[in-house]
Amino acid sequence: MHEISLIESIIDIVLSEMSKNNITKVSSISLKIGKMLQVMEETLRFGFEIMSQNTPLEGAEIIIENTPVIGRCKNCGNEFQIDDWFDSCPNCHQMCVEIISGKEMEIISFEGY
Ligand SMILES: [Zn+2]
Repeated sequence: MHEISLIESIIDIVLSEMSKNNITKVSSISLKIGKMLQVMEETLRFGFEIMSQNTPLEGAEIIIENTPVIGRCKNCGNEFQIDDWFDSCPNCHQMCVEIISGKEMEIISFEGY
C-alpha cells in the first residue's frame, strides 16, 4: 500500500504551498503519476478522501494524468516507450533497457481559494 505514503507527501506539499500562497481551501489537485509506480487510482482517491478529512484539502478533486514508462537501451542509446515489462529495444532488439521515466509522482498544480 505505497499509495498511503504518496498521499501523505501530496498532502504535506500542498499544505506548505497553500500557506505560501494564502490559500485556505483546496478545490482540486492535478497529479502526474508514472505508470511504473503502479498506483491504484481507486485506492489513491479513497485514501485521499480519508486522510484529507479535517484538513483544508478535504473534498478536493483529484485529477490524475498517467505518464508512460520510457526506457533507454544500454546498447544503442535508443529511447522508447515501454508497454510490456519484457519489451526489447525496437532498434537493436537487445534486452538491456534502463528505465529513465515513469517512476515519478509530481503535483502539476492545485486550485483553491
Ligand atoms: Zn538498442
